[in-house]
Amino acid sequence: MGSAALDLSKTEAFLKGVRIPFVSPSATEFGVLSKTFMHSPEQPTGIAQPGTAEEVATIIKHCIAEKVPFVVRTGGHDVTKSTLVANVLSINLRKLDHVQVSADKKTARVGGGILSGALLEALAPHGLEVPTAAVPSVGWLSCATMAGYTLMSPSMGLCCDSLLGAKVVDAKGEIVEASERMMKGIRGGGGNFGVIVEFTVKVHPLLEAQSGAIMYESSDPQRSWSSFLTKFQELMTKEKMPHCLSILPSLIAVPNMGPAVFAVFYWRGARDDAFQYWLKKAGSLGQAVVDLDKAVVTQSALTFTKGFEALLPPKMYGAIHSSCGSELTPEAIEVFGKYGAAMPPAGGSSINFHVLREGTPSCGKPSDFPDSVFGARRPHWMCEFIGGSGAGEEQGAEAAQWAKEIRDALAKTGAVTKFGYAATTSKEFAVVEDVFGENAAELRALKKEFDPDNVFRCTVPLMD
Ligand SMILES: Cc1cc2nc3c(=O)[nH]c(=O)nc-3n(C[C@H](O)[C@H](O)[C@H](O)COP(=O)(O)OP(=O)(O)OC[C@H]3O[C@@H](n4cnc5c(N)ncnc54)[C@H](O)[C@@H]3O)c2cc1C
Repeated sequence: MGSAALDLSKTEAFLKGVRIPFVSPSATEFGVLSKTFMHSPEQPTGIAQPGTAEEVATIIKHCIAEKVPFVVRTGGHDVTKSTLVANVLSINLRKLDHVQVSADKKTARVGGGILSGALLEALAPHGLEVPTAAVPSVGWLSCATMAGYTLMSPSMGLCCDSLLGAKVVDAKGEIVEASERMMKGIRGGGGNFGVIVEFTVKVHPLLEAQSGAIMYESSDPQRSWSSFLTKFQELMTKEKMPHCLSILPSLIAVPNMGPAVFAVFYWRGARDDAFQYWLKKAGSLGQAVVDLDKAVVTQSALTFTKGFEALLPPKMYGAIHSSCGSELTPEAIEVFGKYGAAMPPAGGSSINFHVLREGTPSCGKPSDFPDSVFGARRPHWMCEFIGGSGAGEEQGAEAAQWAKEIRDALAKTGAVTKFGYAATTSKEFAVVEDVFGENAAELRALKKEFDPDNVFRCTVPLMD
């Protein structure tokens, strides 16, 4: 966005005239409405709070006509920092949070501004659920438009594949039902095609679930983490894990202790013999220092993700980077071990894996998924390096440097793939061709088709 201070007085007067709330920086609610997960000194010049699709369309038409730069915001969890900019109008969609379940209980129509936790809460009384992000305050839709890796993905697929349709305020400011072509872009291409004011999502029966984090002995983090990842790779290669199971490796900086190895364990089903078998398997990936039966308990995904969120600092200084690879080679594991042990110990930093497993619903050949520009469809791991601190700028900068170093070191091993994950690729590395690989040309073609003037330019992924 331009560096000259943006004057929104005309926009404020316009919004007042059409009775759409405008919040200026001097208003008490500005702090809450402009809150983002990643700390940024860059703040919007004002916030518009539409309550209906028509109001969103009115705002977009005004922004186009008056050349007002804008960003769209829901949960505020953009970790790429692409949309954490100054001199913009922020369009806050949080009031668009309705949920209407279909009569056959197979789909739901949902407001585009809903948070992940609120969607789970609204579906639960109907005995339904959807795959959902690791923390409940992430905007469900934005996560889904990037791909949406979740603990439930081995059984329910990536979030983007649950997106069946969308009502969009397009690049002319018109409210349209997304065509199949536009849906292809929306499933992976983020906010590039318009403001999604409502979407139709496939819903799944809400089943009993077991979840928790298993902690392992980590007094020598390099050795423990490398050994854990080696055994994890063996497990992935040699055993056929059931679709109801997720085991995801994490290395987390625990205050006063340093980096500690964890496995996030999620089982969509009852505590039966199969569950006990896999819990024991997960426990044997290292020297578990917790009672497995107490660490992994019967709880809903919502309760588990709420517990996880409570461990995060309210404001994260630093940066997040990520890498993807098809398997954990010995060379990659060596890098993970070395840089894992060097993780800033103060708390806030972590390494978190997501996995797209062979044979699970969203995995296959890219050509098996012609309705989506998200092209990373072969089995792979996606790993986030959270170089963060809740303590302040200085600690955040040190942690960010560490996260970049491990990303760069992995890139040199040849163990990483040509694609990345748009939602976790910091804007300094956000080159469409690198992130989308062979689907980049199609994403660019779709962008040209639906937003030739780049009206939705300040979004994730950046297309410039
Ligand atoms: C703590 C944390 C946990 C996470 N967990 C996961 C996870 O488990 N799996 C995963 O895949 N990702 C995860 N992510 C990444 C997350 O999915 C993305 O950062 C996502 O973009 C956040 O959406 P938001 O609405 O919260 O953020 P915002 O910053 O509000 O939105 C990000 C961008 O999305 C676009 N956007 C938002 N809403 C709309 C809309 N209705 N229409 C059009 N465009 C829109 C806008 O361009 C906006 O700038 C996590 C991130 C964090 C910080």
